[in-house]
Amino acid sequence: CLRGKTALVTGSTSGIGLSVARPLAENGCNIVYTGFSDKQHIDNIKSELEKHEYVKAVYIDADLSNSDDIARLGDQINNKVPEGIDILVNNAGFQHVSLVEECSAKKWDSMLTVMLTAPFLLTQHFIPAMRCKGWGRIINMASAHGHVASPRKAGYVTCKHGIIGLTKVVALETAGSGVTCNAVCPGYVNTPLFQEQVTSLSTNRGITYKEAEVEFLSRYHETKQAVDVCDVASLVLYLCSNAASQITGSSLVIDGGWTAK
Ligand code: NAD
Repeated sequence: CLRGKTALVTGSTSGIGLSVARPLAENGCNIVYTGFSDKQHIDNIKSELEKHEYVKAVYIDADLSNSDDIARLGDQINNKVPEGIDILVNNAGFQHVSLVEECSAKKWDSMLTVMLTAPFLLTQHFIPAMRCKGWGRIINMASAHGHVASPRKAGYVTCKHGIIGLTKVVALETAGSGVTCNAVCPGYVNTPLFQEQVTSLSTNRGITYKEAEVEFLSRYHETKQAVDVCDVASLVLYLCSNAASQITGSSLVIDGGWTAK
């Protein structure tokens, strides 16, 4: 039970982040959620999460590719959530597919800011209070691409390898304090980020979405099946439990056997 605790889940208006926020709220955890979306969807998420007894959900608008917004997010949480953050899930991210020589410096910078600098600055911001409370969970949404590379994904693969390094350092620095820091490394999960890539394969090859999905997954997952978002969320929930207090500095893969090859 996480009643009385508060989680910040970045990028929780969609996909994995939203799926992570749901079971946390179901277990009584207050949620601070962020990410892009329209007002109606943002309001719907609040109503959905607050259906659970005692749970409060607070939305904060922040573009994590902008370092002023990252700092503002920390400050706004200090004001709006005086009890502080017990669980930090650094989840926001996006994909960009191009050859190294075709990836603009601007795109590279924005990927590194969202997927490395924001997790670093938010971790830095929330660690002191977690240490004081003697309990905290920092979970970084990395990827199987934190362990292996694919062509045309330089920025993404760099960020995901990098976040595993940050995870290890934070785990060593917080060891024994009641704070743990781990990375979750999914293979392909059925979310908009994955669906965009399947749609683009189906368009390029003139095949149906279903055929493209099978072809896409066969290249990577030994199981040939996508990972369910709810299974990623269950892993995050487990890492938040007291049973996981000795798991720190790990990068847990959930990838249909991809990185076992
Ligand atoms: P998604 O596109 O469904 O959701 C991404 C979330 O991040 C959204 O809420 C979006 O608004 C937010 N976001 C994106 N750019 C942002 C920015 N500049 N500022 C603030 N918020 C921003 O994607 P997803 O598949 O749920 O991905 C979530 C995380 O999981 C990412 O870090 C991704 O790299 C990782 N991941 C996804 C997969 C997959 O197959 N879907 C696999 C491995 C890892």
